Amino acid sequence: MSPPADAAMIADAAMIVVIDDDYAMRLSCGKILSKMGLRFEAFEDGARGLAAVGALKPDLVVVDLKMPGISGMEVISRVREIDPQVIIVVITGYATIDTAVEAMKSGAYDFLPKPFSPDEFRLIVNRGLERRQLALESERNEVERALLKRRFVTFVSHQLQSPLVAIHQYLDVLKYLDNTEDAAAKRREWIDRCLTRTEELQNMIRDWLTVAKIEGNTLSGQRTSVDLRQVISEILKTYEEMAATEQVTVEVSLPEQPLWVWGDRNCLSVLVDNLITNAIKYNKPGGKVGVSGSLADGEVIVSVSDTGVGIPDQYRPFLFSEFFRIKSDAGKRPSGTGLGLHIAKKIVSEMGGSIGVESEVGVGSTFHVRLPAWREQAEKGKE
Ligand code: ADP
Repeated sequence: MSPPADAAMIADAAMIVVIDDDYAMRLSCGKILSKMGLRFEAFEDGARGLAAVGALKPDLVVVDLKMPGISGMEVISRVREIDPQVIIVVITGYATIDTAVEAMKSGAYDFLPKPFSPDEFRLIVNRGLERRQLALESERNEVERALLKRRFVTFVSHQLQSPLVAIHQYLDVLKYLDNTEDAAAKRREWIDRCLTRTEELQNMIRDWLTVAKIEGNTLSGQRTSVDLRQVISEILKTYEEMAATEQVTVEVSLPEQPLWVWGDRNCLSVLVDNLITNAIKYNKPGGKVGVSGSLADGEVIVSVSDTGVGIPDQYRPFLFSEFFRIKSDAGKRPSGTGLGLHIAKKIVSEMGGSIGVESEVGVGSTFHVRLPAWREQAEKGKE
């Protein structure tokens, strides 16, 4: 999250309350604030000011420390009770460090001794509004995270429900199946379906656990130098059967020299695995998958290409979001969780790399992963 370049941009909707018993001071603060294009209201004592803070919900409050009636310090603590996020700027004629420190301890954001120039006042208001914007944004992010968590739990429960219901129904019928030959064939078929559904459940749980580890920053357990050629070769061995079943030919092109990267071996296996599974899953019968690795300009580049269904342009921006899956009208959609690419992106980002895709509908897709090559870092002094 980057701070806004110009606080004036957020100032459109910003509301400032000035509380000062000095008429000239209210007037001059008001003039500066209007010139800045801000909305503001000024009040001559703490009681009126506090009532306004409750009603107007300002972004920033300017308070004079020395006022008759409710003191400036008291105003600060009551304003904080009304809205803990509001920015409070203190102004006073008695500019001592002690009062400033006391005011800051009570929750003031900054301190401006009188007399001050319009520029000084503008600067402090702008800074305060930027701070306010950041606080509001992080509050919004918190709310979004909480909503996402709730959505995740609902989604997960729903996803678990349908295979479990199916398995339960098959088992229920199997229990009462007699011993005829016909029934034996059915029994085998239904047991196979149960096995497929349990496999789906296992895959879902594996992916969710991986996401949970990523969110908790515990995925990259042990980073070491890893030769990606080895990871790719090992993964490919496990895919010989799947590729044959799907009638897909896999072609590999790896260089003579190692492709060193610095990362967690398991994570790198998950990354390569997800890309190769997709290239086979979303391919066509008789299709091809190409896996290549190379070293260029201090980066290790792994490309996984396929001659499959391709990815329509309009879905590209969502491809790496969690749970995203492209609906297909034609034929049955391969089973999946919509988490594979999300996980891949997280792993790559954590390693300081990038992932992208080129694709043409009906022709195929190529995913490119770029990771910092380890050799360069090793030369810098074996961190
Ligand atoms: P999953 O495969 O479990 O659904 P992913 O996160 O790996 O989840 O992929 C998200 C979606 O992106 C897939 O559901 C699919 O629609 C699309 N996709 C991924 N890889 C490819 C590919 N190589 N070719 C075509 N579509 C793909």
